[in-house]
This record gives sequence, C-alpha cells and structure tokens, in this order.
Amino acid sequence: MKPIGPIPPEFAVQSGMLTIGGERADALVAAHGSPLFVYDMGAVRARIARFRAAMPAAVALHYAVKANPHPAVIAGMAPLVDGLDVASAGELAKALAVKPAGAISFAGPGKRDAELEAAIAAGATLNAESAGEVRRALAMGERLGVAPRLAVRVNPDLELRGSGMKMGGRASPFGVDAERVPELVCTIVGAGADWRGFHIFAGSQALDAGALVETQEATLALAARLADESGHLPPKVNLGGGFGIPHFAGDRALDVERIGAALGEALAASALTAAGTAYAIELGRWLVGEAGVYLTRVVDRKESRGETFVVVDGGLHHQLAASGNFGTVVRRNYPVAVAGRMGEAGGDEDGGEASVVGCLCTPLDRLADRVALPPVAEGELIAVFIAGAYGLSASPVAFLGHPVPAEVVLG
Ligand SMILES: *Cc1c(COP(=O)(O)O)cnc(C)c1O
Repeated sequence: MKPIGPIPPEFAVQSGMLTIGGERADALVAAHGSPLFVYDMGAVRARIARFRAAMPAAVALHYAVKANPHPAVIAGMAPLVDGLDVASAGELAKALAVKPAGAISFAGPGKRDAELEAAIAAGATLNAESAGEVRRALAMGERLGVAPRLAVRVNPDLELRGSGMKMGGRASPFGVDAERVPELVCTIVGAGADWRGFHIFAGSQALDAGALVETQEATLALAARLADESGHLPPKVNLGGGFGIPHFAGDRALDVERIGAALGEALAASALTAAGTAYAIELGRWLVGEAGVYLTRVVDRKESRGETFVVVDGGLHHQLAASGNFGTVVRRNYPVAVAGRMGEAGGDEDGGEASVVGCLCTPLDRLADRVALPPVAEGELIAVFIAGAYGLSASPVAFLGHPVPAEVVLG
C-alpha cells in the first residue's frame, strides 16, 4: 500500500458525495460528461484573500496564466489580481481580452518577432530574456514608432532552496546572467525605451517558508545591487513566486503569513522601497492548483495476479502530472478518492488496495499506484485532486485520439 497526498480542505461532502463549489460531483458529471475538470473560483477567491491579508499591501499580485489558461479562469482572475503574466502570444491575447495592457507582462525564451510586435503594439511589458531579445524589441519599437516597455529577466546568482524546480544559480536559457544585467539596463534606458525594472524568478513549488524568505531577501538585495551598478532605479521589481502546494503524503501547506511578515520587514529595510520601487509576486499553482478536481468514471475493474486495477475513462492525456510524468523524479501518488464514497475507509477487506489506471495503452498511464480505496464499481467516479494547475493544458491531449474533456468553471 502506498500513501496518497493530502486532499485539499476546500471540499465539502454531501451524504458521502464530494461537492465542488457546493455542487455534487455526480451532478456535475451528469451535466457535462466524463472525464471532467472542475475549477472552483470560490476557492481561488479565498486564496487571494489569504494572500492579501498575509502580504504587505505594497506587493502586487500577478497571476501566471500558464498554470491554468482556461478563458473563464483568466476572466474570473482578472479583477482579483493586479497583473497577468503570460508566456506566449496566445496567452497575451487571452490576457488582453480581460486586463489592460499596462497590467500584463510577457516572459519566456524564444519570443518570435510577431510576439514582440503584439506585445509592443499593445503596450504590454516584455520581460526580456536575453540581450538579443532586447535588440530585437528595440528595433521592433522603432519600426512601430512605440517605445517598448522593457523589463529584464535576471538569471540570479541565487537559488530557491528546496524548490521543486530550480531556476537560478546556474547556466540557464531563462533570463540574463546577473553580472551582465547592468550593461543591458544602460542599453535599454539609453535607447529611450520605457524601462520597467527587474523580473527575478528563482524557483517553483517551494513548501518551506524559510527558504522562500531567504530567497526573497536575496532577490531584493540583488535588485538593489543591480540598480546601483546600472545607475537606474527599477520602477518595479517582480520578486518571482515559487509558492508551492502540497501534492504528496507528508507535504505541508506553505506558511504564507510567515513569508508576508518577513517580506514586510525586508521591504521596509530596502533602499529601493525608499526610492519608490514597486513590487510584485507572480503565482500560478498556489492560486489555482488546489481549486481544481479531475473527475473520471470507472469503466472496468479487474484483478491480475493478486492486484486490483480500477480502469477509468480518463488518464495521463488529461492529467499528466498525476501520472508522475511531468517533472517528477520519483513517482508518488496525488490525492485521489472515490467521489461517491468520501470518508469511507479504504484498505479493508471490501475495498483494499487498488491502482487507478487510465485508458491509454501505455504502462505510464497510472493515476494512482497501489492505494487504499473503498470498494468501487463500474460507473462510479474517481476524483483526482490538485487538478487546477498544469492539468489539461500541460498534458498530451492528442495522444491516442480520445476526446478532449470538458472543463467547468464554477462561481
Ligand atoms: C511558470 C512560471 C510561474 C508560475 O509558477 P508556479 O509554480 O505555478 O507558481 C511564475 N513565474 C514564471 C516566470 C514562470 O515561468
């Protein structure tokens, strides 16, 4: 028997049936079909309220659209956050539909000329990833007769300790090495561009508040040093994000209140703050990850050489991360449950140990590996939690040619 991750506390249960945003999982599937992604904007609003209460008022909140680019999620998010961070012209177009260009920033390597043009023409901020990109953006601005809004993404000489995905302190396709930044800032300002400041992202999926506090302090110090060395004040410093959420057994929720208190002190002590620099934090998964559930119906239940397999109509083509094939080294179980048997014990004689496998012809397609499940029959629903971020849009949906599942955004 292998453990599962913690089921997020957001969800209520109605006579044994999981409810999402107050609606029964079985009713949602009856209305929209299976498999189904359900995103609860009520849970997202509660997250944002918690962020606002915990963080210094001076820190703006940006949503990193790639975590969940569903148009209704972006639209629901737009009035609640101060900015949208995008990483492609496609995301930029979605963001521009719901937020003024001045509140949108565009990061990511390999921005094509058409993407630079779309951002500059609209007036979105480009987080430049290289000197070459700055050169192309300046040329594009000249062609369009617009001063491009340019920030520099810094490849920091620090890294986020304990983060699931390290982004700093090494050679990287992302950002400009810190030691080369001052000269580039001078080029940008000298060319008459609209200088927007620094974007410093040191890592993702950290659950250790102490590590995030350390990283934010180091990020602030780096921004101040780069400002000094370049001789130009950054109007804004995007401090990155990296707030993680529990996925696996033993993971603990992040103490954002502790981070907020420490950041308040660090900002108060920074010379940049006194000089008028504004700050932002950009978050993806922490805002939306736990607000989403993937529901998939049991098609078959079979025994093979002493093991039980619960075969569902979904799989890794929709929810790759839960199968352990999206950036994890060791496969561990996401939180899963039988949606109509919440609170029933698993692992007893009636239920016992089972693996939940998807409908794809590959042994990779396993949504839960040897977990305790209550007895579950054909036609019942399995809920896979933590499906609100890096779910459908980060999965190989064309693989094996099954239909694209519906996504429902509640509240
Ligand atoms: C993907 C990304 C994010 C969001 O990461 P999460 O772990 O979902 O919070 C933030 N900033 C940048 C630059 C990114 O590429």
